[in-house]
Amino acid sequence: MMNCNSCGAPLKDADPVCPSCGTATSGVSQPKPMASGVTSGLSEYYQNEFQKIRDSNEQYKGKWNWTACLLGPIWAFPKGLREIVVVYVLAILFTFGISVLAYAIIFGLRGNYFYYSKLMKGRVLII
Ligand SMILES: [Zn+2]
Repeated sequence: MMNCNSCGAPLKDADPVCPSCGTATSGVSQPKPMASGVTSGLSEYYQNEFQKIRDSNEQYKGKWNWTACLLGPIWAFPKGLREIVVVYVLAILFTFGISVLAYAIIFGLRGNYFYYSKLMKGRVLII
């Protein structure tokens, strides 16, 4: 009997993907390395953060990121998080700047997870 490397659910040998979480079961016995092609250019900070997010099955969403909090869109744009930059700018226009504080908190809290989601899963999060 094997267990899913990602969520720990029991697997049948015939299952190509985990019935519980959908992770591919090939190589279930070994720990999964990070997708090194994607993360090799990252600083150690983000490599560590992304590893922790992944290892926790995304229960851990990354630690508070002061750089993202203080720089906001300036932090996000070079990382390819363009959608949230657009939302940030629009929100400022429509709320006359009130959203700046809200978005500083969102970037601080969620910035690392935005980045993880975009880089590792190609999924864009804006909040
Ligand atoms: Zn699973």
